[in-house]
Amino acid sequence: MTAKKPQTITTGADPRLAGGRLTVDLDVLAANWLFLAEKSKPAEASAVVKADAYGLGIVHVVPVLWQAGCRTFFVALAEEGLRVKAVAPDARVFVLNGFFAEAFGAYGQSDLIPVLGSVHELDLWKRLNARRKEKLPFALHVDTGMNRLGLTLEEALVFAADMRGQKPVLLMTHLATADDQAHGLNLKQIESFQKLRGAFAGIESSIANSPGIFHTRIGEYELSRPGVAMYGGEPFSATANPMRPVVTLEARIVQIRTGAKGETVGYGATTTLKRDTRIAVCSVGYADGYLRSASGSGVPLRGAVPNGGEGFVAGSKVPIIGRVTMDLTSFDVTDLPVDAVSPGDYIELFGRNIALDDAARAAGTIGYELLTSLGTRYHRRYLKSESN
Ligand SMILES: *Cc1c(COP(=O)(O)O)cnc(C)c1O
Repeated sequence: MTAKKPQTITTGADPRLAGGRLTVDLDVLAANWLFLAEKSKPAEASAVVKADAYGLGIVHVVPVLWQAGCRTFFVALAEEGLRVKAVAPDARVFVLNGFFAEAFGAYGQSDLIPVLGSVHELDLWKRLNARRKEKLPFALHVDTGMNRLGLTLEEALVFAADMRGQKPVLLMTHLATADDQAHGLNLKQIESFQKLRGAFAGIESSIANSPGIFHTRIGEYELSRPGVAMYGGEPFSATANPMRPVVTLEARIVQIRTGAKGETVGYGATTTLKRDTRIAVCSVGYADGYLRSASGSGVPLRGAVPNGGEGFVAGSKVPIIGRVTMDLTSFDVTDLPVDAVSPGDYIELFGRNIALDDAARAAGTIGYELLTSLGTRYHRRYLKSESN
């Protein structure tokens, strides 16, 4: 038996001097990845760690996933790939966002694998690679309905018919609507991909992102590519989230003031108080990635999404009042007992009590954007238990 010793790594701002606090539970992250890896079987599960691991930090996230058994990683940029390699030198790292000739040397030196997504990129790569004795590996992205990156099916079939020694190590496509299980495009993409796999016999294949892993009709593939679900985001918008929350964001209460009935709150005077109101003014704002579109009122979006964001404090949810500003956001705490909250306390903005995706919806966006917008002013805590 190995004893588990809880460990906290702190980075970012000094908590005594910061306005907000970000807590990342790396044990839950590992458990979420293991759950997705189990779901992916018999395929191998990779991990998508682009955008600095969805804002949480490649340097913290990748070693934990490596320890959990993850051996393959996807990033958007070669520069991110270098940062994965720095903490997991033996990882297999695919770079999604295209290929430019001037990066060829770096791919070879750093053992990164480009995902080639156009005939132009493929020709460029083949030409550069032909000059080498030891050929460098590459992956091939085929577009089956996203119209973003990838060769068309026809282009992929032409290439498959004449690969002349430069075979991809991985064939992949990306689903456009996997988060909506009922969408007809899913099956169309899955069927196109299955057909394509026939033309690339013996080559590893990858199709499923987070929601794709749960898709009952997805068929066979060898490598899944979970991202958001691993970080606790919901794979589907219409059903309960099967993942555990990884990230908690909290803001510090600066002061609690009382506004009188009839007065207004904040920029634009967009909220008129309907009662005497206790207002908790908190040290977080859109400069921290807490989006202005979560404002309680006074932004155009409020027409479409009637309510703004909420906080959670002293066992209750409390609504944002007025506009989210650059550095400050206010919450209506009138319904809490008077001594329940004090300056210096923290209000949860998302985490265990307010789902990441609910916070995102209130701002007219998705959990992905909240995570990747997380600012640099927070005190950051990374929790993990370590075997010793
Ligand atoms: C971002 C991305 C993923 C991961 O998607 P999630 O929805 O976060 O699971 C997988 N594959 C590709 C090509 C991506 O760009």
